[in-house]
Amino acid sequence: MLKTLSEKDIQRYAHQIILKNIGIDGQKKLLISKVFILGMGGLGSPVSMYLASAGIGTLGIADFDNVEISNLQRQVLFDQKSINKSKVEIAKKKLLLMNPKLKINIYKKKITKINIDKIIKNYDVIVDGSDNFQTKYLINDSCVKNKKTLISAALRGFEAQITTIKGWIKSENNPCYRCMFPQLTKNILGETYQDCGIVGGIAGIAGSLQSVEVIKDILGIGKNLVGELIIIDLLFNRFKKIKFKKNKKCIICN
Ligand SMILES: [Zn+2]
Repeated sequence: MLKTLSEKDIQRYAHQIILKNIGIDGQKKLLISKVFILGMGGLGSPVSMYLASAGIGTLGIADFDNVEISNLQRQVLFDQKSINKSKVEIAKKKLLLMNPKLKINIYKKKITKINIDKIIKNYDVIVDGSDNFQTKYLINDSCVKNKKTLISAALRGFEAQITTIKGWIKSENNPCYRCMFPQLTKNILGETYQDCGIVGGIAGIAGSLQSVEVIKDILGIGKNLVGELIIIDLLFNRFKKIKFKKNKKCIICN
């Protein structure tokens, strides 16, 4: 735990410190916390920007892609000059401009069954910013195995879904991602954006919600989205929450 905050830190984070749920002690906790974000796209952009601004001490960011012109419509960390450059390298530069004291670890490689556990072990909270089911299952399975909180989101068109997962906890109220979405199906969110299209602002909303879930989890405040899926449909301005239970037949979390 940090002993004190510097005068600069107190100024920078004044609007968080003033909140009674955060305060000086909460800010100290954020400054020593470590968050891993898998995917620096439509979700990874806002999540990383808000977490960097909030003073999350260490951010791990993973993406093996370069920026393409079609990313700029929603991936707000990048600009015209980023095209054809590594997403994680550009992201690191921009996030450090926002908050120079952060530590940012970049992973410019494909995250696979072979390397994921070793990476995830170094972090407190894991954010799923991926755009496909295979990766969502991969990250879920590793988080259950390594007892890490996973903040998951998916996007399609004008819609977003967000949930928080602590699947290693053996209670019916702690489903994992596979309990909620047992099979690969085209009928639920999680298709790649190339397949289905996406409005930029919906990625911003989902990523912002993920960033707040991360902060709440680190500080242990409020009520999280464990066992609940928020579904947002901005085309018709519909907001709803669905409850999920652990699937007793789940191959991962029982
Ligand atoms: Zn499960």
